[in-house]
Amino acid sequence: MPQHKTPITTKILIAMLLGLLLGSLINQFAQNIDWIQHGLVNGLFYVVSAAFVNALKMLVVPLVTFSLICGVCGIGDVSTLGRVGIKAFALYLLTTGLAITLALTVALLISPGQGFETTASLGNFTAKPAPPLTEVLINIVPGNPIQAFAEGNMLQIIFFVILFAIALLMTGEKGQPLVDLADRLNEVMMNVVTLVMDFAPVGVFFLMAKTFSEQGFGLIIPMIGYFSVVVLCLILHCLGTFSLLLHFLAKLAPATFFKKMRSAQIFAFSTASSNATIPITLQAVEKRIGVNNATAAFTVPLGATINMDGTAIMQGVATVFIANVYGINLEFSDYLTVIGMSILASIGTAGVPGVGLIMLAMVFNQVGLPVEGIGLILGVDRVLDMLRTVVNITGDATVTSIVGRSENELDDSIFNDPNAGIITDVELPHKS
Ligand code: ASP
Repeated sequence: MPQHKTPITTKILIAMLLGLLLGSLINQFAQNIDWIQHGLVNGLFYVVSAAFVNALKMLVVPLVTFSLICGVCGIGDVSTLGRVGIKAFALYLLTTGLAITLALTVALLISPGQGFETTASLGNFTAKPAPPLTEVLINIVPGNPIQAFAEGNMLQIIFFVILFAIALLMTGEKGQPLVDLADRLNEVMMNVVTLVMDFAPVGVFFLMAKTFSEQGFGLIIPMIGYFSVVVLCLILHCLGTFSLLLHFLAKLAPATFFKKMRSAQIFAFSTASSNATIPITLQAVEKRIGVNNATAAFTVPLGATINMDGTAIMQGVATVFIANVYGINLEFSDYLTVIGMSILASIGTAGVPGVGLIMLAMVFNQVGLPVEGIGLILGVDRVLDMLRTVVNITGDATVTSIVGRSENELDDSIFNDPNAGIITDVELPHKS
């Protein structure tokens, strides 16, 4: 009898729901039970979930490095590389621009925050200084590549690795063994991703249990207006903007695309970090959707760093919300500033948890909204961070697919095969 194997995504999804349930129950009923708080939430849950997020982060730098070397050498000529880069960059700006415009429009129509009691829980928010644009531009070039790798500075790593790979191509025959080596190491790293994925149901379970035992849904109730407008815009952008772009520009069926992105989306949701999700996004885009490594290796890590549609949406809604709460009238020109600022801010900041709020402080400073107003939305930000990270990485994959299609680097037979790239049980090698 053929054995039915459950795909890992289904297991992770179940683990995620169970973790969410357990966490919420603890939040509701066990806030004051010492052994649960110390032994479980800050003990077992914390240790396993933090180790799991570390395991994901551990994959990012080596995977991006080897895969980008293969990608650049696979493209093989600098003008094509430049073209791919310009297309991806332009599309990332476009989708972020569309996202923030959508958010501002919907938020202005619904107008959340009117009549809101400001005396409500004003969390403590002090804005960390955001890097000025000049610094952002200078810092794309790493003064010390080893430091860039050690710190996992994605833009610097991308910059150095692209130069290195171009130099490898220039070196010709002598460079070829290194290209082959990168290719092998890339295969190996993809297998490391598979191994970590095998552990994912456990990791995701504890991650969700930890997050929701601290978060709870109670905080959302007073902020329900703001919260639901952000969620509405995230859904509209995903199902509307992305679907249209996928259909018309990438010539892909959106429903199949979203299905194939599910595992990456679950990782993004549970970690709230586009950066930590890069390995899974890469796996999904290459092995499940069929974009060639030559394109994806470049556009996915770039997108995780500079493209944050979900974050831009939160910023648009938050701007309107806080302006309403404080009764501040924003002009049309202010909204244009918000659009420009949030696009710029998303380029300069990495995809890690909570960075959206730092970017929001930049936007508020620019249009003269009180930065301490961010304290109001702090309480619900973790859950929104998880949701917007899903949209962020879906945007990265959408743009990657469009660029892949336009470069003839998208394999429809992989996209149309429902089982392509599915991970079931990992088969470990055994000596016989
Ligand atoms: N957590 C988001 C990301 O990693 C960024 C943010 O909105 O805070 O993509």
